Amino acid sequence: MATIMAQIAMVMNLDKCIGCHTCSVTCKQTWTNRAGVEYVWFNNVETRPGQGYPRRYEDQDRWRGGWTLDRRGRLKLRAGGRLRKLLTIFANPLMPALQDYYEPWTYDYENLIRAPLSEDVPVAPPRSLISNRPTKIEWSANWDDDLGGDPSPDPVLAKVSDQVKLAFEQAFMFYLPRICEHCLNPSCVASCPSGALYKRAEDGIVLVDQDKCRGWRMCVTGCPYKKIYFNHKTGKAEKCTFCYPRVEVGLPTVCSETCVGRLRYLGVLLYDADRVAAAASVANERDLYEAQLDLFVDPYDPAVDAADLPADWVEAARRSPVYDLIKKYRIALPLHPEYRTLPMVWYVPPLSPVVDALAEGGHDGEDAVNLFAAIESLRIPVGYLAELFTAGDPAPVTAALRRLAAMRSYMRSVNLGQPPVLA
Ligand code: SF4
Ligand code: SF4
Repeated sequence: MATIMAQIAMVMNLDKCIGCHTCSVTCKQTWTNRAGVEYVWFNNVETRPGQGYPRRYEDQDRWRGGWTLDRRGRLKLRAGGRLRKLLTIFANPLMPALQDYYEPWTYDYENLIRAPLSEDVPVAPPRSLISNRPTKIEWSANWDDDLGGDPSPDPVLAKVSDQVKLAFEQAFMFYLPRICEHCLNPSCVASCPSGALYKRAEDGIVLVDQDKCRGWRMCVTGCPYKKIYFNHKTGKAEKCTFCYPRVEVGLPTVCSETCVGRLRYLGVLLYDADRVAAAASVANERDLYEAQLDLFVDPYDPAVDAADLPADWVEAARRSPVYDLIKKYRIALPLHPEYRTLPMVWYVPPLSPVVDALAEGGHDGEDAVNLFAAIESLRIPVGYLAELFTAGDPAPVTAALRRLAAMRSYMRSVNLGQPPVLA
């Protein structure tokens, strides 16, 4: 009989994110409003196209050095990587630098007030919250907003074709909120030499045991999503806890509760634990999405009643929206499944306007039939979304967008009291 386990999961609907960063700020106030983690955002909201946070984290070759992930998602030494291994053990250079996250700063308000008048305000230099000295800010998360959709620094875009790049002449932008993925096959756990990282058996939340952490930072290197952070005051690793003290008493995560767009759906997924290793090691990257889908068990499957699961978790899985969004309707997709860690935060891709309709009509082309028939001409290219969510395979993205277009058409007809445009 299959070993069925429960995993808490999240689906975010990217159509609804307005990039207000409320989730990031409330998370920070709750979890990282302390010395040593000034630069840390357990929840961040990235501008796309853009470099992300930390910048260029998707450029995986930058972090691996002498290490690579084997088919089961475990770190192993690359051929010819012995020197790199030594460096990794003694200095571990394969991590983002502070400048890749951004140097947190504030103004020296006293100087700001007393500074002589000049043509430019403010005239006082920003002061680093870490070194307490005046600092020159060169880059920060979300400065990509100011590039107005310029795709040049985006590592995802570097992989897609010239034809897709042409579509960027019609600049676009959307937001990608990110937390730790609480992966089914977490490479942070596999990479920790101290056994400090662990995945809770009851709900799959991945945590750091602060007493066991020795500050090796192998987890920072090993997490492909770069969602583990080093506290430079305590010398320990820290990460998103999925707000487990709240979840344990039936409350949503802080980011979910405070999300202005109400776009975060929390729930419980049931999965076949015996097949996790096989799903993470399928040969073709493009098969990883389907392999991960196959792991999830229908909560009404009779096998679930026979499984060794607490009744309240089964009930939570049956009331949960995430199974339907991910597997029943297939409108939510995993972020970078090619990392092979089996991420558990999935995304409903944004349904953008049709480019032709914009050009001809000067408006957003909100006709649902146009949207349904012209998925290939959406302002946000399907190829770009496929690189984010399905290892480059456009078919699942196109299918998800078509379902969203049909649902939009249906809801519009209901709200207008007219027959649906699409059957
Ligand atoms: Fe670990 Fe990174 Fe996966 Fe989070 S996203 S569980 S830190 S590997
Ligand atoms: Fe997006 Fe919600 Fe965060 Fe605002 S609070 S940035 S809408 S995810």
